[in-house]
Amino acid sequence: MSMSGTSTARDLVEALGRGLPADRLVVDPDVLAAMSHDDAEWAPAGRAVAGVRARSESEVQHVVRVCAEFGAPVVPRGSGTGLSGGANAVDGCVVLDVSRMTKVLEIDRDNLVCVVQPGIVNNDLKAEVAECGLWYPPDPASAPWSSIGGNVATNAGGLCCLKYGVTRDYVLGLRAVVGGPVAYGTVTRLGRRTSKGVAGLDLTGLFVGSEGTLGVVTEVTLRLRPALPGTPRTIVGAFAGLPASGEAVSLITRRGLTPSVLELLDRVCLEAVEDWKHLGLQADAAALLLARVDTPGDYGKSEAEALAAAMTEAGALWVEQSSDDVEAEALFDARRLAYPALERLGPVLTEDVCVPRSAVPAMLAQVGEIGARHGVRIATIAHAGDGNLHPLLITPPGDDAARIAAQAAFEELLDAAIGFGGTVSGEHGIGLLKRAGMRRELDPGALAMQNAVRQSLDPLDIFNPGKG
Ligand SMILES: Cc1cc2nc3c(=O)[nH]c(=O)nc-3n(C[C@H](O)[C@H](O)[C@H](O)COP(=O)(O)OP(=O)(O)OC[C@H]3O[C@@H](n4cnc5c(N)ncnc54)[C@H](O)[C@@H]3O)c2cc1C
Repeated sequence: MSMSGTSTARDLVEALGRGLPADRLVVDPDVLAAMSHDDAEWAPAGRAVAGVRARSESEVQHVVRVCAEFGAPVVPRGSGTGLSGGANAVDGCVVLDVSRMTKVLEIDRDNLVCVVQPGIVNNDLKAEVAECGLWYPPDPASAPWSSIGGNVATNAGGLCCLKYGVTRDYVLGLRAVVGGPVAYGTVTRLGRRTSKGVAGLDLTGLFVGSEGTLGVVTEVTLRLRPALPGTPRTIVGAFAGLPASGEAVSLITRRGLTPSVLELLDRVCLEAVEDWKHLGLQADAAALLLARVDTPGDYGKSEAEALAAAMTEAGALWVEQSSDDVEAEALFDARRLAYPALERLGPVLTEDVCVPRSAVPAMLAQVGEIGARHGVRIATIAHAGDGNLHPLLITPPGDDAARIAAQAAFEELLDAAIGFGGTVSGEHGIGLLKRAGMRRELDPGALAMQNAVRQSLDPLDIFNPGKG
């Protein structure tokens, strides 16, 4: 049966309501509108028929079964901090919000594993496992708000992923409500909880980064690490231009140095954070590189010195090794707050390109060149050590010509990254904003295989259709 007309929409809402407690269902237009988009600028959002704030796996099953019966799209949603429109409603859909499924179901200290529901916020999970002397490393700058389910669905990266890996490296297994080869609404267990395991195809890996297009994740089994001992060392280098800071990144990579963090922050970002939060930051350089070394003892000290030397050799104006935690934390706060600080200046279109690390200086030069040619103001933050750059295209509010120029510059930056052998998305996902770019990047054979997988696992095309 396909969704058409208001009577069918009413039937759908009634069918949803029959299997759910009353407080789960959202039909109020204002609340529904707020649930219908993520944090991405100018990603189109359709009109949802209803929202459901599920609190259990069986409620998720009910929603998927009803949507399959009505042929209605299901758009899974975590915290809605996505930057590509992945959680945006499509016309006639049900937005399935799992952000209230926040339980830690198990912390297995003996095996360094935990099992959680998908709605738990990244930092809340970190805090819970820290009480057991354990650590969950992936740390997107949105960690205070974004959910583990969203992190899994986007394969989120973050600051310390340079040394410790991205979300994918920590997902051992999951449970998901799926359709396709099994009846829609079936719960399937994927993966394992052992540290190794090769039984069958890696379907867990397929779900990680699938942006809600293969099913709804209802439980995640995560690998943990022991908490790190000691206090990390911070090294800050200031540069006269963005490409010079990129040269330092290339040199650090070439020398095989492995800081736990290597982030870039330009002057526009520093000034925006300072104007907002008054952290006492001085923006006396075009760009700062923030590095952290968490190796304890003398080896950590020599790693920090080698990093400082590489920055100096690459032409830093000054380099400081901070022993002052307050000062170092202020700089990392500035890094985390850069995006919301810039949003105060006007709509921000966020790039997420990732290039081979030797190409970081050339890509940063392209950012300046493309911005200047289109007359677009671009601020840049980057997980520089991964080659993952976030040029942030800032436009004056309500200026249509500026929006069109920014969108053209956005596409050119994607092409520049592809030209350097890079990718259109390092960690935010494709969503709606990078669909055309992804099609320019991927091999036609890979695209055809991807479509075939989707068709076979979701023949009704109801799981977050039109995304990715
Ligand atoms: C200030 C700021 C900083 C950020 N920094 C980073 C960063 O450093 N690194 C990074 O990777 N990202 C970053 N992001 C982007 C964003 O936080 C991540 O993409 C995050 O993983 C999204 O999580 P969420 O819970 O908000 O998911 P949502 O935005 O709610 O959803 C994201 C995608 O996941 C799908 N989804 C959500 N839950 C489920 C589920 N249970 N089952 C199936 N599909 C699901 C949605 O359909 C959508 O496609 C940042 C965002 C902001 C606003």
